Amino acid sequence: MADTDIQSGCIGGSSLVASLASEEVEFLLSPRAKVPLQSLHGKKICLFFSANWCRPCKSFTPLLLQLFDTLRKKRQELEIIFISFDHDEQEFNDYYKCMPWLAVPFNSNLHRKLSEKYHVDRIPSLIPLNPDGVSVEDDSIDLVEDYGAEAYPFTALRREQLKAIDHAKRRGAKIEELLAHDEQSYVVSRDGRKVPISQLVGKTIGLYFGAYWCPPCRAFTGQLTEAYNELIGTTKRDSLEIILVSTDRDLKEFEVNMSSMPWLAIPYEDRIRQDLGRIFNVKGIPALIFIGPEGKTVSTNGKEMISLYGAKSFPFTESRIAEIEETLKREGEKLPQQVKDMKHEHVLKLDMAKAYVCDECKKQGKYWAFSCEVCDYDLHPTCVQDQQEL
Ligand SMILES: [Zn+2]
Ligand SMILES: [Zn+2]
Repeated sequence: MADTDIQSGCIGGSSLVASLASEEVEFLLSPRAKVPLQSLHGKKICLFFSANWCRPCKSFTPLLLQLFDTLRKKRQELEIIFISFDHDEQEFNDYYKCMPWLAVPFNSNLHRKLSEKYHVDRIPSLIPLNPDGVSVEDDSIDLVEDYGAEAYPFTALRREQLKAIDHAKRRGAKIEELLAHDEQSYVVSRDGRKVPISQLVGKTIGLYFGAYWCPPCRAFTGQLTEAYNELIGTTKRDSLEIILVSTDRDLKEFEVNMSSMPWLAIPYEDRIRQDLGRIFNVKGIPALIFIGPEGKTVSTNGKEMISLYGAKSFPFTESRIAEIEETLKREGEKLPQQVKDMKHEHVLKLDMAKAYVCDECKKQGKYWAFSCEVCDYDLHPTCVQDQQEL
């Protein structure tokens, strides 16, 4: 190779080509043939540092394959070059079989030199080279994990743009913008029926993040079902829908989870599930996000609302919760602080409880109760007999 080719200035990959050439690398591998180094000139290049023995690499490589395929379909120029950390050539060959992109021929020393040059301190690592041929962008593994092919061209600017889009969606986005994309425009019911996202427009939507393997989710599903059935059975029938955003481990588990739910779900294979978790910054499950009929996020704390106030909290706005709490407060003000009931030996005190069973009528109670501080004894305020105010 002529020096002038290597030193030809502001062309993508020229610094890489120079490094490779100085290590006596004469060509790259492609799945079909050897590729001369010069063919890298002017191309958008990403270096992929990885190894067959590395577990995180194994879970990342399918994402990169998907990205590569999507970009090829969109005719986006990108060369990925695999730089192997494998122990030997056999391992390298086994791993490279799954890759449709280029590779530096196996060399047990070269990967150290290149990882030093590009400041790679862990694998997998995906380092995009800038068009100036010298500087590089930050490791883009996380960007690809979060955004898939949308991450292209992996620049700091693209990173900012994607964050800004997420932020705008978190603040408020039409339900179509939030849930539909090029490949999917429907949600599913538990019997497999496809419901177009356009049918959800104008409703209050609850995005329920949960999984069957998580016991608190299964408990919350019960509470949510109760509130949902109550609302769906009223005039609010057409104004609410819940959509499961499953974090189940596989399709089978998702189906089991869904079988107990009367609402809809994002199809398990739809990648928008991950996007929604990221957009709404969901850190734990169960979580319930409510989107208002205008497409504005009305609450990120729907789980707490449903647990405390059930169907009453509809339409899940802060002002509705303030209203409920004000009403409860006023109810409490009308009640005595403590009473003596003829059926019970101790004084009973006014108390606020999430849930209790009344020891007189044996029915469930919520909010105000008269409770014994000595033993486990609760009464509905309306079930106190021979009430004497103390
Ligand atoms: Zn009672
Ligand atoms: Zn008692």
